[in-house]
Amino acid sequence: MYKILKKDGNAKRAEFTTVHGTVQTPVFMNVATVAAIKGGVSTEDLEGIDTQVVLSNTYHLHLRPGDELVYRMGGLHKFMSCNKPILTDSGGFQVFSLAKTRKIKEEGVYFHSHIDGHKLFMGPEESMRIQSHLGSTIAMAFDECPSAKAEHEYVQMSVDRTTRWLLRCKKEMDRLNGLEYTVNPHQMLFGINQGAIFDDIRIEHAKRISELDLDGYAVGGLAVGESHEEMYHVLDTVVPFLPENKPTYLMGVGTPANILESVDRGVDFFDCVYPSRNGRHGHLYTNRGHINILNAKYEMDDTPIEEGCGCPACRRYTKAYIRHLLKAGEMLGMRLCVLHNLYFYNHMMTEIREAIEKGEYKAYKKKKLEGMLEFDSETIADGYNIARNWRKG
Ligand SMILES: [Zn+2]
Repeated sequence: MYKILKKDGNAKRAEFTTVHGTVQTPVFMNVATVAAIKGGVSTEDLEGIDTQVVLSNTYHLHLRPGDELVYRMGGLHKFMSCNKPILTDSGGFQVFSLAKTRKIKEEGVYFHSHIDGHKLFMGPEESMRIQSHLGSTIAMAFDECPSAKAEHEYVQMSVDRTTRWLLRCKKEMDRLNGLEYTVNPHQMLFGINQGAIFDDIRIEHAKRISELDLDGYAVGGLAVGESHEEMYHVLDTVVPFLPENKPTYLMGVGTPANILESVDRGVDFFDCVYPSRNGRHGHLYTNRGHINILNAKYEMDDTPIEEGCGCPACRRYTKAYIRHLLKAGEMLGMRLCVLHNLYFYNHMMTEIREAIEKGEYKAYKKKKLEGMLEFDSETIADGYNIARNWRKG
Protein backbone atom coordinates (compact mmCIF):
# COMPACT_ATOMS: atom_id res chain seq x y z
CA MET A 1 0.00 0.00 0.00
CA TYR A 2 1.23 3.45 -0.98
CA LYS A 3 0.31 6.49 1.08
CA ILE A 4 1.34 10.05 0.25
CA LEU A 5 2.33 11.88 3.44
CA LYS A 6 3.20 15.22 1.89
CA LYS A 7 3.52 16.93 -1.47
CA ASP A 8 5.88 19.81 -2.20
CA GLY A 9 5.33 20.97 -5.76
CA ASN A 10 5.41 17.70 -7.71
CA ALA A 11 7.80 16.05 -5.22
CA LYS A 12 6.11 13.27 -3.23
CA ARG A 13 6.95 12.09 0.30
CA ALA A 14 5.24 8.74 0.81
CA GLU A 15 5.23 5.39 2.59
CA PHE A 16 5.04 2.11 0.72
CA THR A 17 4.01 -0.88 2.84
CA THR A 18 5.20 -4.34 1.82
CA VAL A 19 5.34 -7.77 3.47
CA HIS A 20 9.07 -7.17 3.98
CA GLY A 21 8.69 -3.80 5.70
CA THR A 22 7.65 -0.22 5.02
CA VAL A 23 9.67 1.84 2.54
CA GLN A 24 10.01 5.58 3.06
CA THR A 25 10.06 7.36 -0.29
CA PRO A 26 11.72 8.90 -2.21
CA VAL A 27 14.05 5.92 -2.01
CA PHE A 28 17.23 4.67 -3.65
CA MET A 29 17.41 0.92 -4.33
CA ASN A 30 20.85 -0.61 -3.94
CA VAL A 31 21.90 -2.74 -6.87
CA ALA A 32 22.88 -6.30 -5.99
CA THR A 33 22.79 -7.78 -9.50
CA VAL A 34 23.70 -11.38 -8.67
CA ALA A 35 22.36 -11.19 -5.08
CA ALA A 36 25.51 -9.34 -3.99
CA ILE A 37 26.58 -5.69 -4.03
CA LYS A 38 29.80 -5.63 -6.02
CA GLY A 39 32.74 -4.49 -3.89
CA GLY A 40 32.37 -6.97 -1.03
CA VAL A 41 29.37 -5.30 0.63
CA SER A 42 27.18 -7.72 2.60
CA THR A 43 23.52 -7.50 3.58
CA GLU A 44 24.77 -6.87 7.11
CA ASP A 45 26.77 -3.86 5.85
CA LEU A 46 23.62 -2.49 4.23
CA GLU A 47 21.98 -2.26 7.63
CA GLY A 48 24.55 0.29 8.80
CA ILE A 49 24.40 2.73 5.88
CA ASP A 50 20.80 4.00 5.74
CA THR A 51 19.66 1.61 2.99
CA GLN A 52 16.06 0.44 2.56
CA VAL A 53 15.66 -1.62 -0.60
CA VAL A 54 17.84 -4.08 -2.52
CA LEU A 55 17.54 -4.69 -6.27
CA SER A 56 18.45 -8.00 -7.85
CA ASN A 57 18.50 -9.27 -11.38
CA THR A 58 16.20 -11.91 -12.81
CA TYR A 59 18.28 -12.68 -15.90
CA HIS A 60 21.55 -13.15 -13.99
CA LEU A 61 20.02 -15.24 -11.17
CA HIS A 62 18.16 -17.39 -13.68
CA LEU A 63 21.48 -18.28 -15.36
CA ARG A 64 23.46 -18.61 -12.13
CA PRO A 65 22.82 -20.16 -9.63
CA GLY A 66 19.38 -20.78 -11.22
CA ASP A 67 16.04 -19.61 -9.82
CA GLU A 68 15.05 -23.22 -9.10
CA LEU A 69 17.98 -23.47 -6.67
CA VAL A 70 17.06 -20.16 -4.99
CA TYR A 71 13.46 -21.41 -4.68
CA ARG A 72 14.64 -24.62 -3.01
CA MET A 73 16.75 -22.53 -0.63
CA GLY A 74 13.59 -20.72 0.45
CA GLY A 75 13.71 -17.70 -1.85
CA LEU A 76 16.05 -14.77 -2.30
CA HIS A 77 15.48 -13.21 1.14
CA LYS A 78 16.58 -16.40 2.90
CA PHE A 79 19.28 -17.19 0.35
CA MET A 80 21.09 -13.86 0.81
CA SER A 81 19.90 -13.34 4.41
CA CYS A 82 18.19 -10.09 3.57
CA ASN A 83 15.36 -8.72 5.70
CA LYS A 84 14.65 -5.69 3.51
CA PRO A 85 12.27 -5.35 0.57
CA ILE A 86 13.86 -6.70 -2.63
CA LEU A 87 12.88 -5.62 -6.14
CA THR A 88 13.78 -7.89 -9.04
CA ASP A 89 13.96 -6.54 -12.54
CA SER A 90 12.30 -8.67 -15.17
CA GLY A 91 15.31 -9.69 -17.20
CA GLY A 92 13.93 -7.90 -20.22
CA PHE A 93 16.61 -5.23 -20.26
CA GLN A 94 19.45 -7.80 -19.97
CA VAL A 95 17.98 -10.01 -22.68
CA PHE A 96 18.21 -7.00 -24.98
CA SER A 97 21.50 -5.54 -23.75
CA LEU A 98 23.67 -8.61 -22.90
CA ALA A 99 22.56 -11.47 -25.09
CA LYS A 100 24.61 -11.81 -28.26
CA THR A 101 21.84 -12.87 -30.60
CA ARG A 102 18.13 -12.55 -30.00
CA LYS A 103 14.88 -13.01 -31.85
CA ILE A 104 11.83 -11.19 -30.57
CA LYS A 105 8.51 -12.94 -31.20
CA GLU A 106 5.01 -12.40 -29.88
CA GLU A 107 5.54 -15.23 -27.36
CA GLY A 108 8.83 -13.81 -26.02
CA VAL A 109 12.54 -13.59 -26.81
CA TYR A 110 14.88 -16.34 -28.02
CA PHE A 111 18.51 -15.59 -27.15
CA HIS A 112 21.86 -17.08 -26.22
CA SER A 113 23.33 -16.95 -22.70
CA HIS A 114 26.13 -14.38 -22.36
CA ILE A 115 27.94 -16.85 -20.07
CA ASP A 116 28.17 -20.05 -22.13
CA GLY A 117 26.17 -19.27 -25.28
CA HIS A 118 23.47 -21.89 -24.77
CA LYS A 119 20.05 -21.19 -26.26
CA LEU A 120 17.36 -19.74 -23.98
CA PHE A 121 13.84 -18.41 -24.18
CA MET A 122 12.19 -15.82 -21.96
CA GLY A 123 8.69 -14.44 -22.25
CA PRO A 124 6.31 -12.75 -19.80
CA GLU A 125 5.28 -16.05 -18.15
CA GLU A 126 8.89 -17.28 -17.80
CA SER A 127 9.96 -13.97 -16.25
CA MET A 128 7.09 -14.09 -13.75
CA ARG A 129 7.84 -17.72 -12.85
CA ILE A 130 11.51 -16.92 -12.26
CA GLN A 131 10.63 -13.90 -10.13
CA SER A 132 8.08 -15.96 -8.22
CA HIS A 133 10.79 -18.55 -7.52
CA LEU A 134 13.03 -15.74 -6.25
CA GLY A 135 10.13 -14.51 -4.10
CA SER A 136 11.10 -10.86 -4.37
CA THR A 137 8.91 -8.20 -2.78
CA ILE A 138 8.34 -6.43 -6.09
CA ALA A 139 8.52 -8.07 -9.52
CA MET A 140 8.94 -6.01 -12.67
CA ALA A 141 6.92 -6.68 -15.82
CA PHE A 142 8.71 -8.23 -18.79
CA ASP A 143 9.12 -5.58 -21.47
CA GLU A 144 11.16 -4.63 -24.48
CA CYS A 145 13.35 -1.57 -24.06
CA PRO A 146 13.64 -0.15 -27.59
CA SER A 147 16.72 1.90 -28.40
CA ALA A 148 16.46 5.67 -27.89
CA LYS A 149 17.38 5.94 -31.56
CA ALA A 150 14.70 3.54 -32.88
CA GLU A 151 12.20 4.79 -35.48
CA HIS A 152 8.68 5.83 -34.46
CA GLU A 153 7.08 2.92 -36.31
CA TYR A 154 9.26 0.31 -34.58
CA VAL A 155 8.77 1.85 -31.14
CA GLN A 156 4.97 1.90 -31.58
CA MET A 157 4.94 -1.77 -32.59
CA SER A 158 7.27 -2.70 -29.69
CA VAL A 159 5.25 -0.78 -27.09
CA ASP A 160 1.99 -2.37 -28.24
CA ARG A 161 3.59 -5.79 -27.75
CA THR A 162 4.94 -4.71 -24.32
CA THR A 163 1.35 -3.86 -23.33
CA ARG A 164 0.17 -7.33 -24.39
CA TRP A 165 3.10 -8.81 -22.45
CA LEU A 166 2.08 -6.80 -19.37
CA LEU A 167 -1.41 -8.32 -19.43
CA ARG A 168 0.16 -11.78 -19.62
CA CYS A 169 2.53 -10.90 -16.73
CA LYS A 170 -0.38 -9.82 -14.53
CA LYS A 171 -2.40 -12.94 -15.30
CA GLU A 172 0.56 -15.24 -14.61
CA MET A 173 1.50 -13.44 -11.41
CA ASP A 174 -2.06 -13.72 -10.08
CA ARG A 175 -1.92 -17.44 -10.81
CA LEU A 176 1.51 -17.91 -9.18
CA ASN A 177 0.56 -15.91 -6.07
CA GLY A 178 -2.36 -18.29 -5.58
CA LEU A 179 -0.26 -21.47 -5.63
CA GLU A 180 0.29 -23.38 -2.40
CA TYR A 181 4.10 -23.37 -2.34
CA THR A 182 4.75 -19.83 -3.58
CA VAL A 183 7.67 -18.20 -1.73
CA ASN A 184 5.95 -14.80 -1.51
CA PRO A 185 2.20 -15.00 -2.22
CA HIS A 186 2.03 -11.21 -1.77
CA GLN A 187 4.50 -10.46 -4.56
CA MET A 188 3.71 -7.13 -6.19
CA LEU A 189 3.92 -6.20 -9.85
CA PHE A 190 5.16 -2.92 -11.34
CA GLY A 191 4.40 -2.08 -14.98
CA ILE A 192 6.91 -0.27 -17.18
CA ASN A 193 6.23 2.68 -19.45
CA GLN A 194 8.19 2.64 -22.70
CA GLY A 195 8.17 4.70 -25.88
CA ALA A 196 11.76 5.92 -26.34
CA ILE A 197 11.66 9.70 -26.81
CA PHE A 198 8.27 9.87 -28.55
CA ASP A 199 5.78 11.87 -26.46
CA ASP A 200 2.69 10.48 -28.19
CA ILE A 201 3.68 6.84 -27.66
CA ARG A 202 4.79 7.44 -24.05
CA ILE A 203 1.53 9.20 -23.12
CA GLU A 204 -0.74 6.66 -24.83
CA HIS A 205 1.16 3.80 -23.18
CA ALA A 206 1.06 5.47 -19.73
CA LYS A 207 -2.73 5.83 -20.04
CA ARG A 208 -3.20 2.20 -21.06
CA ILE A 209 -1.09 0.68 -18.29
CA SER A 210 -2.57 3.01 -15.67
CA GLU A 211 -5.95 1.33 -16.21
CA LEU A 212 -4.54 -1.96 -14.89
CA ASP A 213 -4.35 -0.99 -11.19
CA LEU A 214 -0.82 -2.35 -10.71
CA ASP A 215 1.18 -1.88 -7.50
CA GLY A 216 3.51 0.66 -9.08
CA TYR A 217 4.64 2.16 -12.36
CA ALA A 218 8.12 2.51 -13.76
CA VAL A 219 9.45 4.74 -16.50
CA GLY A 220 11.86 2.59 -18.47
CA GLY A 221 14.05 3.04 -21.49
CA LEU A 222 15.84 6.09 -20.14
CA ALA A 223 19.53 6.50 -19.26
CA VAL A 224 20.30 4.51 -22.41
CA GLY A 225 22.07 7.23 -24.36
CA GLU A 226 19.63 10.13 -24.51
CA SER A 227 20.62 13.55 -23.07
CA HIS A 228 19.64 14.61 -19.54
CA GLU A 229 17.35 17.23 -21.10
CA GLU A 230 15.55 14.54 -23.13
CA MET A 231 15.17 12.43 -20.00
CA TYR A 232 13.66 15.32 -18.00
CA HIS A 233 11.39 16.09 -20.93
CA VAL A 234 10.09 12.50 -20.96
CA LEU A 235 9.42 12.71 -17.20
CA ASP A 236 7.63 16.08 -17.55
CA THR A 237 5.54 14.50 -20.30
CA VAL A 238 4.73 11.08 -18.90
CA VAL A 239 4.60 11.27 -15.07
CA PRO A 240 1.35 13.34 -15.09
CA PHE A 241 -0.32 10.41 -16.91
CA LEU A 242 0.76 7.79 -14.34
CA PRO A 243 -1.40 7.28 -11.22
CA GLU A 244 -0.31 9.67 -8.49
CA ASN A 245 -1.48 7.29 -5.77
CA LYS A 246 1.08 4.65 -6.83
CA PRO A 247 4.91 4.65 -6.65
CA THR A 248 6.73 6.05 -9.69
CA TYR A 249 10.04 4.35 -10.41
CA LEU A 250 12.65 5.75 -12.77
CA MET A 251 14.71 2.74 -13.83
CA GLY A 252 18.50 2.83 -13.86
CA VAL A 253 18.88 6.53 -13.00
CA GLY A 254 21.30 8.04 -12.20
CA THR A 255 23.65 10.76 -10.96
CA PRO A 256 22.80 12.63 -7.73
CA ALA A 257 21.73 15.58 -9.94
CA ASN A 258 19.44 13.30 -12.01
CA ILE A 259 17.79 12.05 -8.82
CA LEU A 260 17.32 15.56 -7.41
CA GLU A 261 15.71 16.74 -10.68
CA SER A 262 13.52 13.64 -11.03
CA VAL A 263 12.17 13.83 -7.46
CA ASP A 264 11.05 17.34 -8.42
CA ARG A 265 9.08 15.74 -11.28
CA GLY A 266 7.22 13.26 -9.07
CA VAL A 267 9.54 10.22 -9.18
CA ASP A 268 10.05 8.36 -5.92
CA PHE A 269 11.91 5.08 -6.66
CA PHE A 270 15.43 5.00 -8.10
CA ASP A 271 18.20 2.50 -8.74
CA CYS A 272 21.61 2.88 -10.32
CA VAL A 273 24.96 1.10 -10.47
CA TYR A 274 26.91 4.40 -10.32
CA PRO A 275 27.67 4.48 -6.57
CA SER A 276 29.01 0.92 -6.46
CA ARG A 277 30.67 0.92 -9.89
CA ASN A 278 32.32 4.30 -9.40
CA GLY A 279 33.30 3.40 -5.85
CA ARG A 280 35.20 0.38 -7.12
CA HIS A 281 37.16 2.77 -9.32
CA GLY A 282 38.04 5.17 -6.49
CA HIS A 283 35.56 7.70 -7.82
CA LEU A 284 33.73 9.12 -4.82
CA TYR A 285 30.67 11.31 -4.31
CA THR A 286 30.78 14.20 -1.86
CA ASN A 287 28.59 17.23 -1.18
CA ARG A 288 31.17 19.31 -3.03
CA GLY A 289 31.16 17.13 -6.13
CA HIS A 290 32.92 13.90 -7.00
CA ILE A 291 36.59 13.28 -6.27
CA ASN A 292 39.09 10.78 -7.62
CA ILE A 293 40.87 9.48 -4.55
CA LEU A 294 43.72 8.20 -6.72
CA ASN A 295 44.82 11.76 -7.50
CA ALA A 296 48.35 12.41 -6.19
CA LYS A 297 47.15 15.27 -4.01
CA TYR A 298 45.49 12.76 -1.64
CA GLU A 299 48.70 10.78 -1.05
CA MET A 300 49.31 12.36 2.37
CA ASP A 301 45.76 13.56 3.04
CA ASP A 302 44.88 12.72 6.64
CA THR A 303 41.21 13.74 6.39
CA PRO A 304 38.24 11.45 5.66
CA ILE A 305 36.64 11.31 2.19
CA GLU A 306 34.11 13.81 3.53
CA GLU A 307 34.18 15.58 6.88
CA GLY A 308 31.02 14.81 8.86
CA CYS A 309 30.04 11.80 6.74
CA GLY A 310 28.52 9.02 8.87
CA CYS A 311 29.69 6.09 6.71
CA PRO A 312 32.04 3.36 8.02
CA ALA A 313 34.89 4.60 5.78
CA CYS A 314 34.74 8.24 6.87
CA ARG A 315 34.16 7.51 10.55
CA ARG A 316 37.56 5.82 10.81
CA TYR A 317 39.89 6.08 7.81
CA THR A 318 41.82 8.79 5.96
CA LYS A 319 41.95 9.46 2.24
CA ALA A 320 45.67 8.61 2.30
CA TYR A 321 44.97 5.14 3.68
CA ILE A 322 42.07 4.36 1.33
CA ARG A 323 44.14 5.63 -1.63
CA HIS A 324 46.98 3.33 -0.58
CA LEU A 325 44.61 0.34 -0.35
CA LEU A 326 43.33 0.94 -3.90
CA LYS A 327 46.85 1.42 -5.26
CA ALA A 328 47.92 -1.82 -3.59
CA GLY A 329 44.95 -3.68 -5.10
CA GLU A 330 43.51 -4.46 -1.68
CA MET A 331 39.83 -5.48 -1.70
CA LEU A 332 39.29 -3.37 1.45
CA GLY A 333 39.94 -0.19 -0.55
CA MET A 334 37.10 -0.93 -2.95
CA ARG A 335 34.82 -1.99 -0.13
CA LEU A 336 35.32 1.25 1.83
CA CYS A 337 34.78 3.35 -1.31
CA VAL A 338 31.56 1.50 -2.21
CA LEU A 339 30.29 1.82 1.38
CA HIS A 340 30.91 5.57 1.26
CA ASN A 341 29.16 6.03 -2.09
CA LEU A 342 26.13 3.94 -1.12
CA TYR A 343 25.86 5.88 2.12
CA PHE A 344 26.10 9.13 0.16
CA TYR A 345 23.20 8.13 -2.13
CA ASN A 346 21.00 6.68 0.59
CA HIS A 347 21.69 9.54 2.98
CA MET A 348 20.85 12.05 0.24
CA MET A 349 17.44 10.36 0.00
CA THR A 350 16.98 10.93 3.75
CA GLU A 351 17.75 14.63 3.23
CA ILE A 352 15.35 14.72 0.26
CA ARG A 353 12.54 13.24 2.37
CA GLU A 354 13.18 15.76 5.17
CA ALA A 355 13.23 18.67 2.71
CA ILE A 356 9.87 17.61 1.20
CA GLU A 357 8.37 17.20 4.67
CA LYS A 358 9.41 20.77 5.51
CA GLY A 359 8.09 22.07 2.18
CA GLU A 360 11.60 23.25 1.30
CA TYR A 361 12.43 20.91 -1.56
CA LYS A 362 13.22 23.50 -4.24
CA ALA A 363 15.60 25.38 -1.92
CA TYR A 364 17.28 22.13 -0.83
CA LYS A 365 17.73 20.97 -4.43
CA LYS A 366 19.27 24.28 -5.51
CA LYS A 367 21.73 24.32 -2.60
CA LYS A 368 22.71 20.68 -3.09
CA LEU A 369 23.26 21.08 -6.84
CA GLU A 370 25.34 24.24 -6.41
CA GLY A 371 27.48 22.62 -3.72
CA MET A 372 28.27 19.59 -5.85
CA LEU A 373 29.80 21.68 -8.64
CA GLU A 374 33.02 22.45 -6.76
CA PHE A 375 35.14 19.37 -7.55
CA ASP A 376 33.43 18.46 -10.77
CA SER A 377 36.55 18.69 -12.89
CA GLU A 378 38.53 15.89 -11.22
CA THR A 379 39.54 13.23 -13.69
CA ILE A 380 38.46 9.66 -13.12
CA ALA A 381 40.68 8.07 -15.77
CA ASP A 382 43.19 6.72 -13.23
CA GLY A 383 40.41 4.96 -11.39
CA TYR A 384 39.52 2.85 -14.38
CA ASN A 385 43.16 1.84 -14.87
CA ILE A 386 43.47 0.77 -11.25
CA ALA A 387 40.29 -1.29 -11.48
CA ARG A 388 41.59 -2.96 -14.62
CA ASN A 389 44.92 -3.84 -12.97
CA TRP A 390 43.12 -5.12 -9.91
CA ARG A 391 40.99 -7.48 -12.02
CA LYS A 392 44.08 -8.77 -13.81
CA GLY A 393 45.84 -9.44 -10.49
ZN1 LIG B 1 31.79 8.54 3.97
